[in-house]
Amino acid sequence: MPFTGVGVSPGRVLGTVRQMPAPVSEPPAGERLAASTSADDAVAALRAASKAVQAELKSRAERAHGDAKAVLEATAQMATDSMLIKSAVKHINAGLSAERAIWEASASVAEMLLNLGGYMAERATDLFDVRSRIVAELRGVAAPGIPASATPFILVAEDLAPADTATLDPAQVIALVTSGGGPQSHTAIIARALGLPAVVAAVGADGIADGAEVYVDGTAGTVVVDPGAEEVAAADAWATTASRLVDFDGNGRTADGHLVPLLANVGGAKDAVKAAAAGAQGVGLLRTEFCFLGRDSEPSITEQVEAYRGVFDAFPDKKVVVRTLDAGADKPLPFLTDATEPNPALGVRGYRTDWTTPGVLERQLAAIATAAEGSTCQVWVMAPMIATVEEAAHFASMCAAAGLTTPGVMVEVPSAALRSEFILGHVEFASLGTNDLTQYTMAADRQLGPLAALNSPWQPAVLQLIGMTVAGAVAEGHDKPVGVCGEAAADPALAVVLTGLGVSTLSMTPRALAAVAAVLASVTLDQAKHLAQLALAAPSAAAAKERVRSELPILAELGL
Ligand code: PEP
Ligand code: MG
Repeated sequence: MPFTGVGVSPGRVLGTVRQMPAPVSEPPAGERLAASTSADDAVAALRAASKAVQAELKSRAERAHGDAKAVLEATAQMATDSMLIKSAVKHINAGLSAERAIWEASASVAEMLLNLGGYMAERATDLFDVRSRIVAELRGVAAPGIPASATPFILVAEDLAPADTATLDPAQVIALVTSGGGPQSHTAIIARALGLPAVVAAVGADGIADGAEVYVDGTAGTVVVDPGAEEVAAADAWATTASRLVDFDGNGRTADGHLVPLLANVGGAKDAVKAAAAGAQGVGLLRTEFCFLGRDSEPSITEQVEAYRGVFDAFPDKKVVVRTLDAGADKPLPFLTDATEPNPALGVRGYRTDWTTPGVLERQLAAIATAAEGSTCQVWVMAPMIATVEEAAHFASMCAAAGLTTPGVMVEVPSAALRSEFILGHVEFASLGTNDLTQYTMAADRQLGPLAALNSPWQPAVLQLIGMTVAGAVAEGHDKPVGVCGEAAADPALAVVLTGLGVSTLSMTPRALAAVAAVLASVTLDQAKHLAQLALAAPSAAAAKERVRSELPILAELGL
């Protein structure tokens, strides 16, 4: 029986499974040396483990390039750092187990690094990685993180954290399968960004044996162990059809010439350069929190200016929509969010962090304004998680004070969709964050696999809220643009529906641009409107998707 989940990134491939190892648990506080182990033996074991970790990281560094190489080289040095090892040896001589000793030694060295601040503080994350690797080596279990392999493989995990995906090498990993995670989870977003076929919420897939041969269908959402002739033929066919997807010519439009600018979602300057090369007509979402993930102190204004300018420089004369920090829930930033909140998705996140940590947003707006000076970009700024008219008005006033003339809001909380007419009385534009709009409309955590079916932007209730947002934007007295920057925009069939609902721009991972452009160009605006009505009238998300897809034959032709 195949494992069935939700296909979140198209493609059909065959490959060998590598399971993501379980995270390394903390050795119990005060764990003592076993009676049968002498302190000398434990010290020798610790030294051997740290050397083994260093050798493994060095060999990975040799195979890596660019930033990843530099990080791996620096981390390898840390594994045998004399201060770290000396401190651990002291703990062992005081009677602690080697595992607990290295854990405690790392905690004190990390504290020292954090106190030094700046570059040194950022090394604390590498130190914690080394610590977990040494403990895994001492326990004789697989090292944490994405496994190393001499040959490309299909990565299977329960779910992937942003920190894991940062080290994911798309030349090594050819598909992603998770037993948890939802269609809007970080795993799904990263798979689409890297163009990797992916299936999430495939219950039981984390039990597939390491080394097993599997077939992954990222459109159908299936994973077949020991594939047969049918799957081999399907994978071969995909390899040929995928190459038929023409490059994006830089103009999103319907068959009858209705323009729908296709923009890119980016997390920093590097992404922006790639997005411009892929033909994106601008940036519809700069996730500024991605520039500073893993940081535990607020980035300085100078650092921020540099990060934003890097993005602006990639898009001269084009529009760049900067989203202010959206910390919280799946994207914690220790200097803004409280990790102990019982319900982080409903907590102090996004724009709301301005209430608990005032000043950060004001400084960020100042940095955006400074970066925009001297740039030829049209810089638009929007706040995440706006829920009320007062919040929109207050954000607009903060933008005005910073000299930013095009303030906007994300519509990702249902209350904002319902009140868009009034909200858009205060700001210049709205951008629909369909990932959060779906999780809040359906009351279904976007990170949870078992809720994947609820968490679909094809839900007619979500589509109805999108339609209401657009209707409010063209209500009497104003006519404001409404774009989409959630993952829904990257689904070519849904992109047609969104266009039919009146959305004016679509922002997505650059990998999706060619497919969305090709499918959009296959329908007229009237046909898109008809498909939008079809989806709205459907009794369920599955029926909406089915009905719309059956009217878009180009999807099957392109294998999408
Ligand atoms: C969204 O919620 O749709 C969105 C674009 O923001 P993020 O995925 O970063 O929460
Ligand atoms: Mg969001």
